[in-house]
Amino acid sequence: MRTHYGISREGSSSISSSSVDAPTPRCHCGVRSPIRTAWKCDYPGRRFYGCSGYGTSRKCSFFQWYDPEPPPRYSDVIRRFLEANEGIRSENTELKKTRQELLDELRSLQHTLDETRADLEAAISASTAMEDNMLASVATTRRRGVLITVLISVIILLVFYR
Ligand SMILES: [Zn+2]
Repeated sequence: MRTHYGISREGSSSISSSSVDAPTPRCHCGVRSPIRTAWKCDYPGRRFYGCSGYGTSRKCSFFQWYDPEPPPRYSDVIRRFLEANEGIRSENTELKKTRQELLDELRSLQHTLDETRADLEAAISASTAMEDNMLASVATTRRRGVLITVLISVIILLVFYR
């Protein structure tokens, strides 16, 4: 419910506030209490009036529920929601862990792949050098073969056609 208070019941000052049925109470410090939400209680999400100095060193012990006490069923429903939320959160943490593990594995595989590629390139260049040597050797042998054939022919010519 949205209500606008021009003048509070104390008639002292003008306040505008939402979801307020009664005038905002003042805490022991004499300051109007802001509405806060309680989570660690039987009815998580139930709102209350607390000291305006909450969270600072200047705070008093003032406490007053803003929301009425909900039916007990509400507590069960909220608790179940919070448990489900906790489940989702831990599942999310688990997924993040798995993702990190997969990323690490991928990085490791990438590293192995880089190493393998370097080895392969070295092997290919060694093989190319070996092939070049073999080709050179084959060419030399062929030249020698031709030379020997020519020499033998010359010898035969010299022996038989004198
Ligand atoms: Zn106070």
